[in-house]
Amino acid sequence: MIRYRLICSQDHEFEAWFRDSAAYDGQVKRQQVSCPHCGDVDVTKAVMAPGIASSANSDKFAEAKAHEVARRILSAVGKLRDDVEQDCEYVGDQFADEARAIHYGDAEERGIYGEATDDEAHELEEEGIDFIRLPGRGQRRDN
Ligand SMILES: [Zn+2]
Repeated sequence: MIRYRLICSQDHEFEAWFRDSAAYDGQVKRQQVSCPHCGDVDVTKAVMAPGIASSANSDKFAEAKAHEVARRILSAVGKLRDDVEQDCEYVGDQFADEARAIHYGDAEERGIYGEATDDEAHELEEEGIDFIRLPGRGQRRDN
């Protein structure tokens, strides 16, 4: 079943259901579809105004979509950080040293989290040590 928005020759708009588009064509041709307001059988499909999207609208849509995606990412990061803080050991600014020690088997293997400077993070990356960076909670100490 499909629903068409129809309009009669007197500009009355109404909706009607048809089995398919061929059924619509046949019933209109045989004048079996009449306007519920005036009984007119001279009906055609009405133009669907909302189907015509202006570029301004689609820009707004894209922007809203981008905001929604950003909000979801931030919310996912927040949840990830909550999980990390619950399951992992906080090592503060010793993060790089501890991550390295765990990687080379000098410390017990466990989940840790803490702070690292950009240089430290870069060194860890170069040594192939797995870690993920999360957007900071407030200002990070870069000393
Ligand atoms: Zn009518």
